[in-house]
Amino acid sequence: MVADLIELYQDLHRNPELSLQEVRTARVLAEELRPLGYEVTTGVGGHGVVGVLRNGDGPVVMLRADMDALPVQEKTGLPYASTARGTDLDGNDVPLMHACGHDMHSTCLIGAAGRLAAERQTWSGTLLVVFQPAEELARGARAMVADGLFERFPKPDIVLGQHVTNIPAGVIGYATGPVMSAMDSVQVTLHGRGGHGSMPDQTIDPVLMAANVVTRLQGIVAREVPPAETAVVTVGRLRAGAKDNIIPDTAELGINLRAYSAEVRDQVRAAIERIVRAEAAASRAEREPDFDWTVSAPVMVNDPDATLTTVDAFVRHFGEQRVTEVPRQTASEDVGVYGQAIGVPTVFWFWGGMDGDARPSNHSPEFAPVIEPTLTTGVEALVVAARTWLDG
Ligand code: ZN
Ligand code: ZN
Repeated sequence: MVADLIELYQDLHRNPELSLQEVRTARVLAEELRPLGYEVTTGVGGHGVVGVLRNGDGPVVMLRADMDALPVQEKTGLPYASTARGTDLDGNDVPLMHACGHDMHSTCLIGAAGRLAAERQTWSGTLLVVFQPAEELARGARAMVADGLFERFPKPDIVLGQHVTNIPAGVIGYATGPVMSAMDSVQVTLHGRGGHGSMPDQTIDPVLMAANVVTRLQGIVAREVPPAETAVVTVGRLRAGAKDNIIPDTAELGINLRAYSAEVRDQVRAAIERIVRAEAAASRAEREPDFDWTVSAPVMVNDPDATLTTVDAFVRHFGEQRVTEVPRQTASEDVGVYGQAIGVPTVFWFWGGMDGDARPSNHSPEFAPVIEPTLTTGVEALVVAARTWLDG
């Protein structure tokens, strides 16, 4: 069984697929899930896969894993390293890698689905097993909900999931309350009026406008967000012009924000739009800037009571030294979308995949969870968590 899972993991690792393109991954996982006794539905919210195991009266427990990979050139040197390439949404040829460990998440969920099916005489209730696409775009969860996840399949009483990360292998890390930040990205286009670099008076320079926007945005966290709150505003993309002596027509900014509450997030979103508009006006722009809010993940809130109940079960199973509280993360996840959509608690924990002192973080080209004890710990954590909420 573990040997099969290792084989599955290495196969998924060698064959990563970008968000919204998880065709092969979904097929492989559906093929693994069917013989375990689950009713399997594919193509939910894109390439999402849903498995249902009805096992008498009792609670409905949802277990979620994500499936997508990233445009990263793998540099782990592992014998099963990915050399795959793909085409991103803009049509660029890119290297592909499971640099966030979603291959490990999916493998562990297959392992747990198998274990729980094999033990079905010892529990009752319904298992809803969800393989989600497009997590890295923070779109997949919303797409599955919009495609009727909670109308077409049994509605869960609790949502459970996990993320492998760069804490020591075999260790479970948890936190309660707002654990992962809300994240939004906006693509801004500033409109100026282009012309000759020697005659700036006859132009409206979008480069100067963009430069002022970048510096002025830094005042949001420093001067608008209450000091006891946390937010991050990053301009990760800035593009304008083609030649030194031409003032361009437009400038583009890609801005990313993080916050731990809906209030702060709304405040920061509004501040970004206000500042960009004001800088455009200050530069006497003739056309309003465009805002395209492309990515959005809500705050990931771990229900405190449900989390502590689950953590107690982890401590009983793994022992106290393998279960540790971790600080909240500025990283984001769309797993919170499910519980929020139907008003049920979410419990989402981290588990370690790293051996030794060098611990590359998720999204690094060197991110390389050791297969064991990571795999077995991930399977057991899902089983223990599910059994905490199922009857029996
Ligand atoms: Zn990621
Ligand atoms: Zn991830």
